[in-house]
Amino acid sequence: MKPRDRLRIAVQKSGRLSEVSQDLLARCGLKFRHSRDKLFCFGESLAIDLLLVRDDDIPGLIADGVCDLGIVGRNVLAEQQAALQSREAVVPFRELLPLGFGRCRLSIAIPQELDYAEPSSLQGLRIATTYPALTAQWLQQAGVTAKVVVLSGSVEIAPKLGTADAICDLVSSGATLQANQLREVAGILDSEAVLAAAPGLPPDERGELQELLLRRIEGVIQVRESKLVLLQTTRAALAGVTRLLPPGQQPTVTSIEGSADDVALQAVCHGAITWQHLEDMRRAGARHMLVLPVEKMLA
Ligand code: ATP
Ligand code: MG
Repeated sequence: MKPRDRLRIAVQKSGRLSEVSQDLLARCGLKFRHSRDKLFCFGESLAIDLLLVRDDDIPGLIADGVCDLGIVGRNVLAEQQAALQSREAVVPFRELLPLGFGRCRLSIAIPQELDYAEPSSLQGLRIATTYPALTAQWLQQAGVTAKVVVLSGSVEIAPKLGTADAICDLVSSGATLQANQLREVAGILDSEAVLAAAPGLPPDERGELQELLLRRIEGVIQVRESKLVLLQTTRAALAGVTRLLPPGQQPTVTSIEGSADDVALQAVCHGAITWQHLEDMRRAGARHMLVLPVEKMLA
């Protein structure tokens, strides 16, 4: 592999993860000049370039050293990992950070009228999937012998077509399963988009860039889930009000000029703050409550 001084990150070109992935990188301050073929985008703000590819190619691009990082579903990463492990080959990529979007699960589903009590109910059945390695691994761990039928898509219609008795596929809302009279009976893997990388840090400037990008991504994720809460209360009610705040940093408490009893509280909280939270805090003695979005954060 030729040495490179620019970091390269692969994201899905078009599909469920493509827009959110590019939006995440934009929030990290990355700007790209789009090329005519729209596959390679030169990074203008930092020495980080973007490659737009099919999601299935991302682990391989990292393994071959063509890219340093990738944003891909854990399901894709885990499938290719399981395939390599089944051949006792080394796994040349790893999950660095879960990104909190593209959530779904890989599950076994069977026709609604079929009985299911435990994994052994699948004994001897044909299971259609685009995830043969993960399916085989799960069946083996459950001690079940079943035939894995590999399909490249439209797995959900296999039972109706008679090419399989059950399926193992990605589920998010469950609407596709329902539309095909299937029911989910076992979860194999909980998935979301993740940042994937080679096992070690690149030994040159790219290593520093990778660390910088990782910190910024963590910051963006934290900001997305954080709110700044401002309120006033009395010293006597302070402990009760503080207890009702969602988890977060230790609040800052300051006295209010001209008032011996009243204090102002400022806290960065993680997770949703609902009307219910505010009403509970009001009952506990909080006043003048403000909940503000956080724009940027760096620890
Ligand atoms: P590509 O052309 O890049 O190969 P694809 O068809 O394999 O695209 P998409 O359907 O765009 O992929 O899904 C990308 C990822 O989105 C999945 O690998 C998975 O991690 C995630 N995802 C979230 N919810 C779902 C869902 N209901 N069905 C399928 N994938 C989902
Ligand atoms: Mg794909």
